[in-house]
Parts: sequence; C-alpha cells; structure tokens
Amino acid sequence: MKITEIKTFLMQVGAQPVGSTATPTKDAAFGNSRNWLFIKVMTDEGIYGVGEGSGWPRVIETAVKDLAHIVVGEDPGNIDRLWQKMLTASMGHGMTGTVGGGALTAIEMALWDIKGKALGQPVWNLLGGKFRDSIPVYGHARDTEKADRLIALGYRGIKLPLTGKGDIDRAYAIREHVGPDVDLMLDAHGPSWLTTQDAIEFGQALEGANMLFYEEPVAPENLDALQRVRDNVNIPIAAGERVSNIWGMLPYIERNLVDVIQPDTGRAGGITQMRKMAAMAESHFITMAPHSGSLGPVAEFAALHVMASIPNALMLEKLEFDWEGRDDVITPVPKVVNGGIPIPTAPGLGVDIVEGEIVKYPSRMNVRTDDGVYNEGTHWESVYFQPRRGRASSLRRTRS
Ligand SMILES: [Mg+2]
Repeated sequence: MKITEIKTFLMQVGAQPVGSTATPTKDAAFGNSRNWLFIKVMTDEGIYGVGEGSGWPRVIETAVKDLAHIVVGEDPGNIDRLWQKMLTASMGHGMTGTVGGGALTAIEMALWDIKGKALGQPVWNLLGGKFRDSIPVYGHARDTEKADRLIALGYRGIKLPLTGKGDIDRAYAIREHVGPDVDLMLDAHGPSWLTTQDAIEFGQALEGANMLFYEEPVAPENLDALQRVRDNVNIPIAAGERVSNIWGMLPYIERNLVDVIQPDTGRAGGITQMRKMAAMAESHFITMAPHSGSLGPVAEFAALHVMASIPNALMLEKLEFDWEGRDDVITPVPKVVNGGIPIPTAPGLGVDIVEGEIVKYPSRMNVRTDDGVYNEGTHWESVYFQPRRGRASSLRRTRS
C-alpha cells in the first residue's frame, strides 16, 4: 500500500452555515476563533485514514501540505518511521511546538486509522488491547445548575474554574451539592497566571473540597513555581496540555512535578507519542487525563483508543454543551453513558468526517478577538506575565 495524497478540511467552529443570516453562535471560550483541521490520508488501495491537528489549525493546514510531499509514495504502515521522517523535516523550521506537533499528530493519527482499517481492527487492539470498555469523562461547570445538567447526562466528573470572584466558595458549594461520589477538578486557567503565592494560598483553601486535581496552578513554563505549589498544596497537580512531544512532557514527569499529565490528543505528536508519555508517566506512578479545549471530535476518538490501552488512564476531558454543529461534522457521534464513552469497536479509529457539513463553515479567523482583548492600555493588551493581584484578591474566600 502507498500513500497517494493528503486532503485537508479546515472549518470555523461556532459559525452559522454559509448562507444563514442568523447571528453567529458566540463561542464563549475562544471568541469565535476556534478552527478544526481534519485530514484524510489517501492510499492507492482505496483505504483512507482520518486525523486531526489542533495546535493552530489554520497554520497546521499549511504544515500538513508541506509534509505531504515527503510521505506520498511511502507505505502508510511504517508509522513510526514516517513520524521520524516528518520530525526531521520540521526541525529545520524550529517547529517542535504545537504547530509542528499538530501537523505530525494529524498525519500520524490518520496512519493508525489506515492500519486499523487494513487489518480490520480497532486501533486500541493494535496498541496492546483494552483495559476497559468505557473511558471515564469529565465536563465543565461553574455552578450547581450546570453541574446538575452534566450529572443528568451521565457525567461523574466535573471541572471547576478558579478564575473569578467567589470561585473558592462555589467549589465547596458544588462539592456539597453533588456529594462525595462525583469527581471534582479545578483549573486555574491562565493567562493571566496566578502568582506562586496565590496558587499556594488558593490550593490550600481548597484542600477540604476533595479535588481530584488542581490544574495549571501557575504558568506551565515555570517549573520551579510548580514545584513550590506541589510541595505546599495537598491536592494532586495536573499540567501538560501544551506540549507537543515526549520531550516537552519529560520534565513534568522526570521531576515528579505533577500527579496527572494532560497531553492534548490533537497536538501532542500523535497516538504513539501519547502512548510513550503514558509509559513514562506510569514509571513515576503518574496518571493521564488528556486535554480537550480547541480539540475537535476526531482527536477525541483517538483519545478513546489511547485511554483504552493504557493502565494509568484517569479521565478524558470532554466539551459537553460545545457548539451544536460539533455532532454534525463526524459520524458516529460519541455519547456519554454511566460516566464514560464506550470505546469504538469499528476498524481503525471508528470515526469519519462529514465533508458536506464541514464545507458549510469555511475558516475565517483563528486568533481570539472577543471581549476587547489586545486593546491598548488595558489589562488585556499584554496579559501573559501580569501577576493576577486584582483577580487574586477577588478570589479570596468570603467565608471560612
Ligand atoms: Mg486547562
């Protein structure tokens, strides 16, 4: 079998379809800026594989087209060798970040899909078989009403933000409301990032709320700060959603900075990179809870296969109540049952894209533009390094 062509499918998430006069759906988290990039790797035997790259989709599309030239004509079965070949090609651009990671991820994911289809096996069965028939998932809520909606859909894990006034008190209120059997997590969601001192103070304030993990309490580049939070807060720490290969994840694991790694299945380098990260983490008794943020529904399927096949799978993040078009662009649509998504059983990844739907949502932009971000002279003009003193003071508890 030989690779003949790579097709790309870029789309605007949260948009109204072409021709509609309705107001675009506001994509609250990303200011209507999200794109999804799906690809198809075509072969001379009629089998094709689907993949997704989520680092910066509009840019990744170009990277995928560049890389296509060095994989066309190759046997798609030699997944690891082709990945190394693409990595070597990317290094000349200094591209070990999420753009390069996203491009390698999309193509590598599609190669696994091809292999599974060619062998008549779901990808998890080629990764050593399954540990579980269903992958536990968690959704996002900041109040009891949203938490109730998730629980009604079968969710048993909920992540709360630590970003605004009253969030600490709210975390305790939600814990009381949902009881002890629902897993709760906490995400400090930068930028702007908490200072180390604030991250420790808030973490300690939440030690009594039985949290499954405390995510990115400080800027993820600041490993020494992460170490200080870890040493002073008795809640498991989670990080790693922005890394794009095993070397990016290595310091978190090697230095035991986290209890949970969170590679993003669309930009962590591919299914094999995710498996290697899981193995590195396993050796340090660290679990894995893959990130989903800008991520789309094809990469979510890939995550199910990885999570089915590793011993240290914790939970998969899922964007429930995402844009309503999410379910239209793939088939089949995964559904949460009893707190988890049943693993796919069809050959390959078990998912396909619906091209006729994707073309209705042409890409327009892919950087955040809402809420007056970047406005000169405002907090939002240059937010990354600002210590969050203002936000921090509003976060402090109003009751003890
Ligand atoms: Mg996060």
